Amino acid sequence: MEHGVSGVLRSTIPPVSPVAWASISTGLNPGKHGVFGFVDREHRPYSSKNIMGLALWDLLARARKRSLCINVPFTYPPYRVRGAMISGPPCPKDEPSTYPPDLKDELKELSYRVDVRLPHGGYRGIREDAFVKDCLSVTETRAEAVLRLAEEFKWDFLFVVFTTLDRVQHVFFGRALRESPFYDQRGHETLMSYYKTVDDILGKLLSELGDDTVFFFVSDHGFEPLYRFVGLRNLISDFLARKEPRRLLYNLVARITRELRLTGFIKKVLSKIGLLSSAYEQVEGNVQPGLGCVYFNRPEQELKELIGFLTAIKDKEDVKVFERLYLKEELYWGPELRKAPDLVLVPRTGYEIRSQLPNKFEDIRPVKGVICKTGTHMSLRALRGFLAIYGPGVREGFRVDACVYDIAPTVLHVLGLPVVEDMDGEVLTKAFEESSELARRPVRKVRLRRVKRRSARRARGGCGSRSSLTESWGRSMMRLA
Ligand SMILES: [Zn+2]
Repeated sequence: MEHGVSGVLRSTIPPVSPVAWASISTGLNPGKHGVFGFVDREHRPYSSKNIMGLALWDLLARARKRSLCINVPFTYPPYRVRGAMISGPPCPKDEPSTYPPDLKDELKELSYRVDVRLPHGGYRGIREDAFVKDCLSVTETRAEAVLRLAEEFKWDFLFVVFTTLDRVQHVFFGRALRESPFYDQRGHETLMSYYKTVDDILGKLLSELGDDTVFFFVSDHGFEPLYRFVGLRNLISDFLARKEPRRLLYNLVARITRELRLTGFIKKVLSKIGLLSSAYEQVEGNVQPGLGCVYFNRPEQELKELIGFLTAIKDKEDVKVFERLYLKEELYWGPELRKAPDLVLVPRTGYEIRSQLPNKFEDIRPVKGVICKTGTHMSLRALRGFLAIYGPGVREGFRVDACVYDIAPTVLHVLGLPVVEDMDGEVLTKAFEESSELARRPVRKVRLRRVKRRSARRARGGCGSRSSLTESWGRSMMRLA
């Protein structure tokens, strides 16, 4: 990246795709865009319908600019934009969902796929060779689709996400790193070779997408080797059992049911006599642990006790499992704060929090030739993502560190548009050459005082939306642009 600027892009906490991509595309912290994990408090998966705030492509539509939005996670279901949208994962079927709808037929001709094929249980049981082949095929087809769409549609802004990088690193990161106990030469070479493929593809996109284009390369989070899973629900069950001994019985019944893989009939009988449902209800009813997120519907004093309990948890090597525990107010701000988990846990490097495990901890045990997760992104180390900017007016060989909230305001500035005042990031002016127009152009801000975040989804309706609020903002953007 000696021809552009590069540095660390600090992710959200937790550093996971739904939260971080929503912040990258809206410039808002989770307390404003309302996405805090993969599922909400009621265990409903987040989708494009419940992301609050306007994403870059929504904002640009109102300034009469066209966007191509390709495979951005959590853009399913697709919706009307000025340009085109191909939904990113998760999608219900592994086939493209698009706006305009008939675009998907063209993508099917290309054998475009939303994601790699993984078994329901995650990164297990697929032959390594088949997995790598699948990843390469998805990556190459996506690049082909980008070039085809860029040719076919008029666009001012193109946003594409290569999610396969995440999938490949989940499998090979721990095998490619010398510090990891799972290091092996083959794993290292496989990951390096995949990076090389992506690098070649990016080189091709750079040369094909025009000399006057400013390119942003961003990752939604960093990566770290994975050694051990932690069962959060197991730990919380222990905490609750200490408070109320009868929970021990519920926990025991739940565990026996799981471990003996009891049949539907026995489960039914247990439920009928009230034992099984009690077991689950008692453990899950008031506390809903997600991916490092705890939704706690019990008295505040108990939350404090839970924090004390979890802070002290140590594993078999006698080291503390959680690096930091945050109350929601310490991480987020904005109107969606009330929907945030009450507690967000950050494990130490190498640990991945799972909702439920057969035991509290589970070590990673790779099997030769078959894929297995050896990489994750949950600790503070994984907050260190990647940023590079390259193009006309951008400084060369200069380091710029930033935060995921800074991307959207910087993109608006590069496109000659004012920044929405409500955005939580800043325009990365230090990325521009001093003499360039981008550096000299003043950073302008517009206030969306009258737009309620809650109405963002309705306002989104697309380029033909009749929302007077957002239309007036669009006009002010046009005027200032
Ligand atoms: Zn991931």
